Amino acid sequence: MTGSASVNSFYLQTCFSFFLLMLVPHSLRADGNFTVEAASSKIDATVSADSLQLTDAQLQRWVQKAADAVVAYYGRYAVPHLTLQIRSFDGKGVRGGQTFSRHGGFIRIAVGTQTGEDDLNSDWMLTHEMVHLTFPNMQDEHHWIEEGIATYVEPVARIQAGQFSAQRMWFELVRDMPKGLPESGDAGLDHTHTWGRTYWGGALFCFLADVEIRKQTQNKKGLQDALRAILNAGGDMRYDWPIEKALQTGDRAVGGEVLLKLYEQMRDRPMQVDLDSLWKQLGVRIENGTAQFNGNAPLAQIREAITAPKPRS
Ligand SMILES: [Zn+2]
Repeated sequence: MTGSASVNSFYLQTCFSFFLLMLVPHSLRADGNFTVEAASSKIDATVSADSLQLTDAQLQRWVQKAADAVVAYYGRYAVPHLTLQIRSFDGKGVRGGQTFSRHGGFIRIAVGTQTGEDDLNSDWMLTHEMVHLTFPNMQDEHHWIEEGIATYVEPVARIQAGQFSAQRMWFELVRDMPKGLPESGDAGLDHTHTWGRTYWGGALFCFLADVEIRKQTQNKKGLQDALRAILNAGGDMRYDWPIEKALQTGDRAVGGEVLLKLYEQMRDRPMQVDLDSLWKQLGVRIENGTAQFNGNAPLAQIREAITAPKPRS
């Protein structure tokens, strides 16, 4: 009896669902939900996207990879629970990523109707958004450090997770880092809110700090250790911290004052940086559209250590 009743009700539900699908001709797929686990954290994704070529399984792999990259860099995920909302747009690629501290961590991102799995495999944006969760919420004038960390850490995290190549990252750093240099009239990172100084000026701060921490610690520690310590001290996006508290926490973990001193130099002055000399010392140059490495350069080991995978703890 029970069995037969449940078969009947299954049949009715199936017919009813089919009937509903017929009523929505433009929706090639129903809204989906899935959960991804990252270290001991959970990511609950809702897919409210019409006419995607991608399946939920493909979207789930994309979310898992971005989460894995964060875990590779930080040794853990950023927040215990993330709510992820995936929407669609008419076109190709991934766009419109935004990260918020509400609901314990909330990311909104859009995937194009023409986007295929290859586009997801080369996507950096979801990792960038997830990196935002790993650092405390700053006052508006320090927005550069939030974008700078996301910009600088994202490719390193993907390399450490085996998803991206160091050669490509160095090519892009050499190409893009000059966008972070001060132009005339610059009043320092806290007071110059241009796109270049926010994203790449912030990334320049991270890169200079990384190299300097490694120089001062005989390459035993780097920015990664400082950022892990900030996250482990409870400094994730759900909490408002003064920038000094974050930098001090990072400095203490690596035994020095690199972050605070660099901040003093860059916060309200257009600090000049000789990037060409730095690339030479690190042993990287661009030739025929790719990065070429010189293993005998004085800071070659620091260059290699920046992208080397690091154990979880
Ligand atoms: Zn960002």
